[in-house]
Amino acid sequence: MPAKRSTKAPFWETRTLAQMTRREWESLCDGCGRCCLHKVEDTVTGEIFYTSVACKLLNRNTCRCRHYRDRHDHVSDCIELRPEHTGNLGWLPDTCAYRRLDEGKSLPEWHPLLTGDRESVHRAGISVRGKVKTAENVSEDEYEEHLIDWIPVGQRTCRELP
Ligand code: SF4
Ligand code: SF4
Repeated sequence: MPAKRSTKAPFWETRTLAQMTRREWESLCDGCGRCCLHKVEDTVTGEIFYTSVACKLLNRNTCRCRHYRDRHDHVSDCIELRPEHTGNLGWLPDTCAYRRLDEGKSLPEWHPLLTGDRESVHRAGISVRGKVKTAENVSEDEYEEHLIDWIPVGQRTCRELP
């Protein structure tokens, strides 16, 4: 007997970020690893710039945190995204599901919740896999030399700013 296709709208279309269960909330993360890059803030404008330098805990192949559960023991200032942050997610990449839903946008077509495949974020070129360097050889003073821009066409890659 053929499987029945659900016509029910998915949770991200029917519930706000604040209404989601913990499991639903966590499943929104596409695993791109972009938010785990070091950032530089313009002290005048407050604008956030991403760098190509990854947090020391980021696995640059899987793009996942190597110590997610106890990461604060290693990186005390890692931000734990919570529903109370909604309305203030502009610092996240514009591909990020949390930011997109918070801004009333849909999930992108390559999102694992739509494809059913965690690799789709890598295949689409959205993740940081193969594009970033480890923080071990870059001091904080040098972060400004590694600012990046996500190339807008399909946002498939990034380039270091001149
Ligand atoms: S940018 Fe968003 S989707 Fe990507 S890893 Fe960070 S929280 Fe997850
Ligand atoms: S501690 Fe883990 S989750 Fe936090 S920025 Fe680093 S790699 Fe990402």
